[in-house]
Amino acid sequence: MEISREEIIKKVADAGVVGCGGAGFPTHVKIAADADFVIANGAECEPLLKGDQYLMETKAAEIVRGMRYVMKTSGASQGYIGLKKKYHRQIEALNKALAPGIKIFEMGNVYPAGDEHVMVNEITGRIVPEAGIPINVGCIVDNVGTLVNICEAVEKGRPVTRKNVTVTGDVENPVIVRCAVGACVSDIVKLAKPRKQHYTLLNGGPMMGDIINDDFCVTKTTGAILVLPSDSSLVAKKTRTATVAMRRAKSICEQCMDCTLVCPRNLLGHRIFPHKIMRMNFFASGEFNEISSGSFLCSQCGLCEVACPQDLSPKRVFRDVKENLVKKGHKNMHTSSQLSVHSERALRQFPAQRLLQRIGLAEFDKPVSFHPEELAPAKVKIALCQNVGSAPLPVVKAGSEVKEGELIAKAPEKALSANLHASIPGTVVKIDEKYIYIA
Ligand code: SF4
Ligand code: SF4
Repeated sequence: MEISREEIIKKVADAGVVGCGGAGFPTHVKIAADADFVIANGAECEPLLKGDQYLMETKAAEIVRGMRYVMKTSGASQGYIGLKKKYHRQIEALNKALAPGIKIFEMGNVYPAGDEHVMVNEITGRIVPEAGIPINVGCIVDNVGTLVNICEAVEKGRPVTRKNVTVTGDVENPVIVRCAVGACVSDIVKLAKPRKQHYTLLNGGPMMGDIINDDFCVTKTTGAILVLPSDSSLVAKKTRTATVAMRRAKSICEQCMDCTLVCPRNLLGHRIFPHKIMRMNFFASGEFNEISSGSFLCSQCGLCEVACPQDLSPKRVFRDVKENLVKKGHKNMHTSSQLSVHSERALRQFPAQRLLQRIGLAEFDKPVSFHPEELAPAKVKIALCQNVGSAPLPVVKAGSEVKEGELIAKAPEKALSANLHASIPGTVVKIDEKYIYIA
C-alpha cells in the first residue's frame, strides 16, 4: 500500500465520508487517531435489518481494504471483523478476502451485539469508560458500510452520494434499494409494496429507529426504513407522549429490576440503573444526583423496555431526564474508567430471536432481495447537516448547474464537519437553512 497516511485522510475528508451506522461522525477525524485495534462492525443486531449482511457478502474485499487503510492511518496492528456466527455466507466471503493482521470475530445471536461498547469488550476485553468512546481504549470501530465508502474514496476518489437502504416490515417485497442521497422515502417504500394502505415509517430498526413522515429524505446515515402497521404496539409505544410515559412509570413500576438485569451498559460495569431512575421519579423527579446522571450513560438501545413486564420505558424516562438536566446546565458526573464486567453478563445476554417475539415482529422476519435498479430520482432534497458537529457551508447558489458528485457544501476549516456532494446532476433549485434542493 503505497499511499501515505495523510493522503488517505485527505481523500476520506474530500469524499465526505461519515459513520454509516450511527450519528454520522466525520470519518476523517476518527481514523486520524492513534489506535491499537480497528474493528469492522458487521453485527447488524437490530431485528429485521439485512443491509450490512448484504454488503459483507458482496463487498468483502472492499471492507478488508477499507480496514487496511484505517490500520495505516491509525497505526493499529490488529484488525477484527465482528459479526454474528450465524452469518455463514458472509463469513465465507470475508474469509476469502482477509489480509494480514485482520481476523474474523464471531459473536452470539444476541441484542445489542452491534453496540460498540459491547463489541469492543467482546473482542479486546477492554471496557470503554462511562460516557466514553472506543478510542479511549485504543479502538476504532467502523461500520462495514463506512469501510466500503473509505475504500471507494481512497481508490476511486468517489464521494458519498449513494446509500443502500433496507425497506422491510409489513411489506410484500422486503428489499434493499441503492438510492441517491436526498431521495424521498415514499419513492423507496413503494418498491417494497406495503401491505396496508395506512402505515407508520421508522428511520432505522424497531429498537432504535424513530418515526418519520413520508417526505423524509435519505441521508448518509440512513440504513433502513421499517414499515409498521399503524395500530401495532411498537408504534403505540413510540408515539406515547412524555407526560403519559412518565405517569405510567410513576404509577405501575413494580421495581422488579428486570430492566437493570438486562441493561448492556450496566452489565459492562457502568453506573446506570434503569429501575432506580423509575423509582426516583416517584419522589424526586428532576433532581440532579448520581441516579439521574446515569441518563448520560444510556445508549437508548431499548432493551429495558422489552424486558419490562409492565410495558414501561426506562429508555424514554432516561431520554427525558437527560434533556431536562442538559437544559438546566448539568453535566454528567460518571466518567470512571475503573470498571469491571458483571459476573453474570454472559448469562444475561438477550437472545435476538426472543427479542423479535417480544416486540411482535416475528412474522416480518423474511429474506430481503436486492432491487436490481438504482433509484436516481429527478429531484433530491439533501440535508445540509448529516454529520455530528457543524453543518458544511454551501458553495453553490440557487440556479447553479451541478454534476453528480460535485461538491455542494464544504466543511469549514478545522471544524468537526463533512463535505457534501450532489447526488444527481441538475440545477440547484433552492437552498434553505436545512436543505439543498436539486432537480
Ligand atoms: S422492569 Fe419495568 S416494572 Fe420492573 S423495575 Fe424496570 S421499569 Fe419497573
Ligand atoms: S436503553 Fe435501557 S437497556 Fe439500553 S442502555 Fe439505556 S437503560 Fe440500559
